[in-house]
Amino acid sequence: MSRPTIIAGNWKHNPDRSTGESLWREVVDGVEKRKSQLEKVRVLVIPPLPWLGLLGSTPVSQVELGVQHISDCPEGAFTGEVGPALAHQFGARWCLVGHSERRTLFGESDAHVAKRMRAALDHDLKPALCIGETLEEREAGLTQEVVARQLEEGASLCQETESIVVAYEPVWAIGTGVTAAVEQVEEVHGFLRETLREKWREGADEIPLLYGGSVKADNAGDLLGLDDVDGALVGGASLNAASFLGIVDAGIFAL
Ligand code: PEP
Repeated sequence: MSRPTIIAGNWKHNPDRSTGESLWREVVDGVEKRKSQLEKVRVLVIPPLPWLGLLGSTPVSQVELGVQHISDCPEGAFTGEVGPALAHQFGARWCLVGHSERRTLFGESDAHVAKRMRAALDHDLKPALCIGETLEEREAGLTQEVVARQLEEGASLCQETESIVVAYEPVWAIGTGVTAAVEQVEEVHGFLRETLREKWREGADEIPLLYGGSVKADNAGDLLGLDDVDGALVGGASLNAASFLGIVDAGIFAL
């Protein structure tokens, strides 16, 4: 079993051009300085699409790029869509699929998620399947049921040996400043690992499980120290280079 630690910064619909250019430079410089410690740590930046065109045209070895959403439409007359093949040509190697903001604000269903997971894999993008319960679902004792369904249905078109990542992001912890307690994360990640072992007998232990939801430099160490937490999906804190690099450091020291 050789899962890398993955620290992924989801810039969402940020930042503006001048802020983003300096943020990118600071992240790249900071990651470059840590190069010798990054053998088992992968650092990803997942910017909005216009940024991908810019950053993907000057690839840097230590920071990989991803997209926040992909279309599963084939190339052609689909105004507004961007599919995985095009994203790959512009430097993306990863994509988020089923982020809770896509599910709740843009009506993405588990069936859409499954098709986008398939489309990503078919075009050499590594998909991170985002799953997580709402506060109401947690309070109703439905957390395991919800994440098991999202995992099962979202990955239903993937094969056992295909390379995917799963990101557990409780909806109530995203962008709220409320991080899930270490015990809650440990419990859900343990459950997800067992569920993967039942579903994916061959490849289950190779699938990195990321945690996302108000991760910051000062709580990342405790989360990344857990056995079944193989990285972090970071929103707000990825918009500040020092905070993001602090989380990268936590990933390095957690190994
Ligand atoms: C996210 O966007 O996936 C996320 C976890 O955001 P934040 O870190 O701001 O909670």
